[in-house]
Amino acid sequence: MTENDINKDYSCMDDYDPNSILPDEALRRIFDTISAITEAESVPIREALSRVLASNIISEINVPTGCNSAMDGYAINAEDLPSEGKKSLKLIGASFAGKPLSKILKKGECVRIMTGAIMPEGSDTVVMQEIVNVQGDQIEIGINTKPRSNVRQAGEDLAIGDLVLKKGIKLTPADIGLLASLGLAEVNVTRKLKVAFFSTGDELRSVGEKLDNGAIYDSNRYTLYGMLTRLGADIIDMGVVKDDRELMDKAFLEASSNADVLITSGGVSVGEADYVKETLLKRGQVAFWKVAMKPGRPLTFGKLDSTYFFGLPGNPVSVMVTFYQFVQPALKKMLGESSTMPVMMKVPCTSKLKKRPGRVEYQRGILEQDETGRMTVRKTGAQGSGILRSMGDANCFIVLTLENNGVKPGDLVDVQPFHGIV
Ligand code: AMP
Ligand code: MG
Repeated sequence: MTENDINKDYSCMDDYDPNSILPDEALRRIFDTISAITEAESVPIREALSRVLASNIISEINVPTGCNSAMDGYAINAEDLPSEGKKSLKLIGASFAGKPLSKILKKGECVRIMTGAIMPEGSDTVVMQEIVNVQGDQIEIGINTKPRSNVRQAGEDLAIGDLVLKKGIKLTPADIGLLASLGLAEVNVTRKLKVAFFSTGDELRSVGEKLDNGAIYDSNRYTLYGMLTRLGADIIDMGVVKDDRELMDKAFLEASSNADVLITSGGVSVGEADYVKETLLKRGQVAFWKVAMKPGRPLTFGKLDSTYFFGLPGNPVSVMVTFYQFVQPALKKMLGESSTMPVMMKVPCTSKLKKRPGRVEYQRGILEQDETGRMTVRKTGAQGSGILRSMGDANCFIVLTLENNGVKPGDLVDVQPFHGIV
């Protein structure tokens, strides 16, 4: 859909704005502009947790290296399994994990074996100890074991030459375990992003300062701190910048010489002393958009030298919504991550949701299981863009399309669980 399409069902009851672009279009333009960083660094695998893998990992060894037992029992050759009745085998030694037996098994022989111990040469099957009768150095086995069972084959988990981990994944605990199982102490990840941010507004006070008449505490720098820390960014907190032309100019210059990305909040609403816009226009290439979304209509994106710039709205919920919908996918793309977009699923909504056509809405929801175990979603309560509690209470966004005209209890809605995007 293009900007003009938004306008097609315009009616005065609606929330359509002919100058707005759709969130998808804003994201497309952002993605068209930014490119992934190419610098990588080698870090110890524990430090690689949640970092983005910069090159493919190919296995140079078999995991496990040799065939070993999956059970405590007796290693035998499958040819010695009786086809009926019982059979007696001679015990010639024991193989422990880390202490293999060097003897070769001959016909009619068996070896006591523990889980993880290397299978002695000549054996290919383990009979569980629970189904064996032991009499001195003889054991008696029956027919209830299948040939080659209870054995882990060499390379069964990872074989030499296997593509183990693909470039662009964000490393999980399982991944760093896999790297360790390959004996790798270090791994190549893309370097961290340096992200600077500041808040704008004469009314803002930082925690620890006195709250004089008409002032409010700056919360955006703290939500930004949290969201960026979760993404593993190196953070440069530039504090509050007053609504002042020169101070703004200085802050932009400082950020552009230190950071890969600058994020500001506030000062992009229509009709205010808008130094964010003025400074950017003077210093860099910028796009100012009204995005057909709620909350978070005004959004600025641009480039100042080699620093990307996101000018987010001032309202605390708008900051978080625009961060998760635009900034986070953009930062993931810069980091070379292959999966950048939040997961979306359809779930029945148990609340009535108010919505006018004309904007995509990101209402805050609580995803939960009902008594039958089915997932449902309900709204958190008041949905104003200044009500930060609605984000704290929520565990998902309920995403309502541009055309959506309200939701009745029982209707299916699109949901982005925070788990997976945050
Ligand atoms: P603005 O876009 O600057 O007009 O800000 C919109 C609204 O968000 C105003 O009510 C501001 O007071 C509020 N706001 C702006 N920045 C912050 C901030 N850093 N923390 C909390 N509220 C803010
Ligand atoms: Mg302001």
